[in-house]
Amino acid sequence: MQLNRLSLVEAKRLVDKGETSPEEIAEAVLKRIEEVDGKIKAYITVNWSMVEDAKSVKNGKLSGIPIAVKDNICTKGVKTTCASKILYNFVPPYDATVVEKMKAEGYVLAGKTNLDEFAMGSSTENSAFFTTRNPWDLERVPGGSSGGSAAAVAADMCIASLGSDTGGSIRQPAAFCGVVGLKPTYGRVSRYGLVAFASSLDQIGPITKTVEDAAYLLEIISGRDPMDSTSAPVDVEDFKQRLSEDVKGLRVALPKEYFAEGIQGEVKEEVLSTVKLLEKEGVAVDEVSLPHTEYAVATYYIVAPAEASSNLARYDGVKYGYRAEDFNGLIDMYFKTRSEGFGDEVKRRIMLGTYSLASGYYDAYYLRAKKVRTLIKRDFERVFENFDVIITPTSPTTAFRIGEKSSDPLTMYLSDIFTISVNLAGVPAISIPCGLDSNGLPIGLQIIAKPFDEATLLKVAYRIQELVDFRGRYSPKV
Ligand code: GLN
Repeated sequence: MQLNRLSLVEAKRLVDKGETSPEEIAEAVLKRIEEVDGKIKAYITVNWSMVEDAKSVKNGKLSGIPIAVKDNICTKGVKTTCASKILYNFVPPYDATVVEKMKAEGYVLAGKTNLDEFAMGSSTENSAFFTTRNPWDLERVPGGSSGGSAAAVAADMCIASLGSDTGGSIRQPAAFCGVVGLKPTYGRVSRYGLVAFASSLDQIGPITKTVEDAAYLLEIISGRDPMDSTSAPVDVEDFKQRLSEDVKGLRVALPKEYFAEGIQGEVKEEVLSTVKLLEKEGVAVDEVSLPHTEYAVATYYIVAPAEASSNLARYDGVKYGYRAEDFNGLIDMYFKTRSEGFGDEVKRRIMLGTYSLASGYYDAYYLRAKKVRTLIKRDFERVFENFDVIITPTSPTTAFRIGEKSSDPLTMYLSDIFTISVNLAGVPAISIPCGLDSNGLPIGLQIIAKPFDEATLLKVAYRIQELVDFRGRYSPKV
């Protein structure tokens, strides 16, 4: 038994029964990182002392389980770079609330994973340090921005990981790497200690090998937090308990805009044939319309950069992070620090954002985008009057080649078309693997549910996992 291949729930069970120890699991994970991370490059920082850490963990729901954390989530005393030159040396003096919660349950940090700089991107190619590779095919991207977290889980270089999702950054890499990724309802999980990209869209969530693990980890990181005023005072359920509930009688909507032209044939076929399997379980399936889908990408690329331009104003070389060496006075210091410290994509977003917020353009862009956002949200509300969940492909294609889209930002932005509306509407969604394409690359299926109805989302995902048995049938070659 290779202990690094265990799921979280399996690892916990074996540790509880005394059949293995946290140290043995940490040793297996570390050995695997040494073997394959040179090729995959999922980690920016590896916790080389994870075996020692595993010896002295607290007793709790995650006792001794090595979990990887995206490098835009603050870890006290451990470098948190956001994959940016401007934060290359930043060591946070505090833990994000999610990290604090996992610590309280005895988790072991496996390391900090690579991402697109400040989580802006869909491939990890925007990392200032290096590109992470897809464990299923090293010439392809793992997706992004949480590409390091998804690749680390897929290649068994950790037991589970955390990512963040502003427009698809948990779900799309999970889809590309053949693992499970859950974006919780906006407000379900505290954002305190997540380096802000677009505050009205960002959520932290689990990336895992199984649906049970996603349920288990979600429960641990969820809940109202006085340090984040947007976290919601909603009860945290025992999501895992409800997984095996019957799905019979549930109503599933298939939005026609998500199965239209331009999508890879095999992606559409696999998702639809998985839906057929659900139908045999007594689920009612019907086509619906989310008519404002076509405006989602445009709306997102006004709202997210606008918020980013404001959030990123703090990186000025004064208090922390990178500072230019040669400068002539304060303004020149700001100018040079930001010119040298930010990468091209981040600069592009800051410029887009300041432009759309400028007084002469505010009404035409930002205000209008906020109105369209409301229409997108209403599309979902209308469908959820008659349906329990919506099923779509997670991404229009499987993993693309490194370099294939990096020179064309617009093509890259369009690859987020199926994930972005979910963030604009604030609803929860999960990506689970449902098959492979003819190149042997994983295909992700997305399930979307009503706000705070992660229980139904996970129940449907669990049933699909049982029907498809992806993990039992396929694994990456690496
Ligand atoms: N790919 C999207 C972007 O570039 C979403 C990223 C994310 O969810 N953090 O903004």
